[in-house]
Amino acid sequence: MLSFHEQRSRVVELLVDAGYLRNPRVIKALLTVPRELFIPEEMKKYAYHDTPLPIGWGQTISAIHMVAIMTEELDPEPGNKVLEVGTGSGYQAAVLAEIVAKQDTGGGHVYSIERISELASFARKNLEKAGYSEHVTVLVGDGTLGYKEAAPYDRVIVTAAAPDIPPPLLEQLGDPGVLVAPVGDQYFQRLLIVEKRNGRNIKRWGIECVFVPLIGKYGWSVEERWKN
Ligand code: SAH
Repeated sequence: MLSFHEQRSRVVELLVDAGYLRNPRVIKALLTVPRELFIPEEMKKYAYHDTPLPIGWGQTISAIHMVAIMTEELDPEPGNKVLEVGTGSGYQAAVLAEIVAKQDTGGGHVYSIERISELASFARKNLEKAGYSEHVTVLVGDGTLGYKEAAPYDRVIVTAAAPDIPPPLLEQLGDPGVLVAPVGDQYFQRLLIVEKRNGRNIKRWGIECVFVPLIGKYGWSVEERWKN
C-alpha cells in the first residue's frame, strides 16, 4: 500500500490534471495538510478516497475535490482573517490556516464555528495533532449568526447547505472580501460566490454540490430537517 504521503500527492496530481486545482497556494496546502488526521480511526484507510466520509453525529468531512474547489473560489491569501461556518472535522479549517497563517509571512487566523460541541472537540483534537491549533479558533454555536467579536473577515466560507446567505455573514465580510457558500434546498445546492468590492456585492454561481444542512437561525430548523 502507498504511504499516506504518496496517496496525498497522487490525489492532488489528479485534481490538478482535472483542472480543479490551479492556485499554487491551494495546491501546496492540499499537499501539506494530512487528511488522515481528520478522519475517525476506523476509516483512516479511506483518507485519500475523493469522497465525503462520515465523522459522526450524522455529519461528513467533504470530498477532497470539494475542499479544493471551495478553497480555489475563496482565494485566501497569507495574512487573511477567515471565518468558517461548519468546522466538522477541522480539515477545511486546517487547509485555510495553512495558507493564511503558515505560507509566506503568515500572520492570518481562522475562526471556525461548529454547532455540535462533540464535533468541535473532535476538530480541536485533530487540529492539535496536525499542528494548527495556534492558528484556528474553534467556537461552538450557531454559525449563521457569524462571530462579530473578530469581524470584519477577509474571507467567509460556509461548509453546510444554506437556504440563502445568512445576512450576518455578509455584514461581517470585509471590503474587499470574498464569501463562498453552498446555497439551495436541503438536498441539492450550488456554490454561491460573493465578492464584496467598493461597497457592492457581486454574486456568481459555481458548481453543483450536496452538503449536509446548515441548521440555525438563518439556516434550516431541526424540524424541517427531519420532516421528509
Ligand atoms: N468543513 C468540514 C465539513 C463540514 S460538515 C470539514 O472540513 O470536515 C458541516 C458541519 O456544519 C457539520 O459538522 C454540522 O454540524 C455543522 N453545522 C450545521 N449547521 C451549523 C451552524 N448553524 N453553525 C455551525 N455549524 C453548523
